[in-house]
Parts: sequence; C-alpha cells; structure tokens
Amino acid sequence: MKRSYHCPKCNGILNPNVKIILKTERAGRSALLLFSPQPGNYHVIVPESFPLKKHDEVRFSCPLCARDLTSKHDPAMAEIRFATPGGQGGSVVFSRVFGHEETYFVTKEEVRSYGKHAASEGINFWGVGPRK
Ligand SMILES: [Zn+2]
Repeated sequence: MKRSYHCPKCNGILNPNVKIILKTERAGRSALLLFSPQPGNYHVIVPESFPLKKHDEVRFSCPLCARDLTSKHDPAMAEIRFATPGGQGGSVVFSRVFGHEETYFVTKEEVRSYGKHAASEGINFWGVGPRK
C-alpha cells in the first residue's frame, strides 16, 4: 500500500517513485532534495554541491508549479498533502529547519506526530486537525 503525496497548490504528485521530491532553497541556491515517504524517516538525499547543515532554515517549493510550500498557518513549517489508497487524506506538516525532526500527519480525525522534536500533546492545528 502506497501513500501518495501531492502539492497543495497544483495537486501534482511529489512522489512519482519511492522518494518525495521537493525543490529546496537556501541562501540564494536551490536543489532538488529527496525525502523518504515513510513517516519518521529523516534520511534525506542532498546533492553534494548543495551546502546544507543542521539548523539551516530552507524554503521548500513544488518542483512542478514552483509555488512556495511554507505553511500558511505556521511559517516555521512547510505543508503538503497526502492520500492513502483507501481514500483517506490530509496534510503533512514538517519543519523547514534541516535536522529538526518534527512532522505531523493531520487528518480530520487525528494528528499523528513523528520525529524527536515533535510535540506529543497540546498540538493546535488551527482547526484543521481533529475535532473534539
Ligand atoms: Zn505544485
């Protein structure tokens, strides 16, 4: 069963194969980075020529429509969409800081957090998350 990831702006598929591809910009340079589609796996493939170190803040954009993926709700985070083969879908919200392991899968029903820097409770997803 494969989860698909989409751009929230153009709905283009961001994981055509095994990796999620995002355009990443830092200090006037840009590159395509490959991310694991597996929640909680923070292994990222970065081109050698792209200087990136821990705590660098980057800007993610869609490789298809080039629009900024910075979250409207929290500028420290980026946001894309996901869909499961079962038809469930929601948002993936993740940190824009390299090495900061904080990811949330947000659906109407629940928020699942991944990564050692993620908050485990008291998460407020601006009303898009679980309705209590
Ligand atoms: Zn797009």
